[in-house]
Amino acid sequence: MAIPGWFQALDELAMNLRWSWHAPTRDLFEALDPGLWETVGGNPVALVRGLDMERIKEIGSDRDLLGWIALALEDLHTYLRSLSWCDSEDGPGRHCPTAIAYFSPEYGITSVLPQYSGGLGILAGDHLKSASDMGVPIIGIGLLYGAGYFRQALALDGSQTESYPELDPFGMPLHPLHREDGSLVEVSVALPGDEIMRAVVWKADVGKIPLLLLDTDVESNSEELRTLTDRLYGGDAETRIRQELLLGVGGMRALREFCRVYDTPLPTVFHMNEGHAGFVAVERIRERMFEGLSFAQALEASRKSMIFTTHTTVPAGIDRFDPELVSSYFSIPAWGGEDFVRQVLALGEETEDWSEPKRFNMALMGLRVAGQANGVSLLHGEVSREMFRGLWPDREVKDVPIGSITNGVHAATWMDRDLAEIEATRLGGDPSAWEGDLVSDEELWGILREQRIQFVEAAQRRLQASLLERGFSIRRLRWVHSVFDPDVLTIAFARRVPTYKRLTLMLRDPERLRDLLVREDRRIQIVVAGKAHPHDEPGKGLIQDLVEFTDREDIRQHMVFLPNCDMAVVGELLPGCDVWLNNPVRPYEACGTSGMKAALNGALNLSTRDGWWDEWSDGRNGWDIPSADGAATPEERDDLEARWLYEILEDQVIPLFYDNRVNDIPVEWVKRVRHTLATLGPKVQATRMVRDYTTTLYVPAARVASGPLAS
Ligand SMILES: *Cc1c(COP(=O)(O)O)cnc(C)c1O
Repeated sequence: MAIPGWFQALDELAMNLRWSWHAPTRDLFEALDPGLWETVGGNPVALVRGLDMERIKEIGSDRDLLGWIALALEDLHTYLRSLSWCDSEDGPGRHCPTAIAYFSPEYGITSVLPQYSGGLGILAGDHLKSASDMGVPIIGIGLLYGAGYFRQALALDGSQTESYPELDPFGMPLHPLHREDGSLVEVSVALPGDEIMRAVVWKADVGKIPLLLLDTDVESNSEELRTLTDRLYGGDAETRIRQELLLGVGGMRALREFCRVYDTPLPTVFHMNEGHAGFVAVERIRERMFEGLSFAQALEASRKSMIFTTHTTVPAGIDRFDPELVSSYFSIPAWGGEDFVRQVLALGEETEDWSEPKRFNMALMGLRVAGQANGVSLLHGEVSREMFRGLWPDREVKDVPIGSITNGVHAATWMDRDLAEIEATRLGGDPSAWEGDLVSDEELWGILREQRIQFVEAAQRRLQASLLERGFSIRRLRWVHSVFDPDVLTIAFARRVPTYKRLTLMLRDPERLRDLLVREDRRIQIVVAGKAHPHDEPGKGLIQDLVEFTDREDIRQHMVFLPNCDMAVVGELLPGCDVWLNNPVRPYEACGTSGMKAALNGALNLSTRDGWWDEWSDGRNGWDIPSADGAATPEERDDLEARWLYEILEDQVIPLFYDNRVNDIPVEWVKRVRHTLATLGPKVQATRMVRDYTTTLYVPAARVASGPLAS
């Protein structure tokens, strides 16, 4: 039987990840088979593959559906052809690089493709999506992890459990990369002991942007190598260095193959998102040495086109390897002999200010091989200049050449549909119009309340599933149906759980928190979500403490922990919450992006002055939790900051929400929501971020790297 054209159209729609930020396309998939859509967790590829013959026949004779499919495909084609900002009048025009390679260890594009652990990956996903919208010619490079990061659940006692369900690449929006003759593209990297590490390349289409993901699960690999790309941030130092070799060296080779197959020019700019991809520099140096340059000349020649972005504030956040281990990987004949190894080791050598024993440092390597480097918020730029000053001993800290570009978030992915639609149509795409009278207080408050209703439903559903999985009996879960109240001030805290983010700061004085949660009048309710790295015992301890608290009979209806915090969970929480809480120890948060997503949805931020919030808090878009910089011990600091957190809630947040009501609308609160949407809305967007990267880093790098234009 010939495959009908409409079916091919569906396949094409499913295989381009634009649906992950284009709700009308997702509506179409849902309409094809609502039950199946729920079963497959909103994965269009699985939906299309899973349609049964009967349903296929029905769709084939449903003229409305067929028309809808045709329109959706036409819309995708129009999007893919749309004019780019790069070519527009305010874009860089002919100075736009022909292509930019973007290397990242993780990508968060949709929960359907779980290839991220948290902010770093989601930032990379938002970077690609905005580049697609703007027509900035990026090619993404990463790894395909067979089981992603991990799936989090809770045990009966409230502790985190991890599982690693295997993903099927053929059930996801991924194409294996083939050559013209139909053979599978396979890249290889030589390892010590005459071993060869091979990888296939999967291509994901993120709108206009190709994303190449390397995968060592191929038959010709040894069993050990086949499982190398099983997990994101799993395994020991050996696993990590091999994954990073694959990302940097294998990634560069995959990029060459891709450009050959698609007959497109090789990128002129190379962007390393964090230090994990630093070995790309070694591969580029090797290539240049092949043309006759010395190591130093090759480094100098490739440096100009390399950009390094650091995302951490602490040495513990950086990949550091035993130099012996690094040496073993580059001592083999495939590289350049003893002299070559010595120079590679020098790239990652730690300066005097690093603690003993000295390690091979991937961030220092990133800084040494890149012509330009940046942190991800103004404050993080400062922190980074201080942290890495040892590399520039002759300079004052302020002159250390690390700048900053503040992160952003992709609005079409993260902004609530109703709000986005109003902004696009009634407000003519002008966020500042939220402060005018085009949308009344009644309407805006009505939308926010409707969102809280949906949030309460979603939270109850997820909570029930979690309690059942923990082993509670359904007969004893009737109380779940009275969890949360759509008219109560709702606070959310959702992100990874490294200790510096202080998941349990709010529990510092449990009875004071309890009072805010359970009192009759002017209550708050809190939803919490977050994963701790499987080896992070302190982080896992915090989760258990928190869950034990939320399990209390007097608390459980007012505060809830939702497991497996992923993009879908965060997406559900954002529109329903009034306050987004963030209390990292300043200045450990490089940027933080979840609060930006909350601002796009009209939530007010309540945060320590860290990361992006230090830059854009203006007294009206939320509240600052002061930092107890003078505290003698971490305990004293936490005591003080927790006390300030309670005081701000009691004296400022709660009164603003419940007082000054006109027709039951908190008019002062609504003013703050308008102010947030109007003023933060535009700043926090990833389009602003990608524009900044393009004009201040990519364009200059391409001009210098291309030689003649350099002047
Ligand atoms: C946005 C997001 C993050 C980042 O959170 P921050 O702590 O604010 O940086 C982490 N996880 C998920 C699932 C997200 O969507």
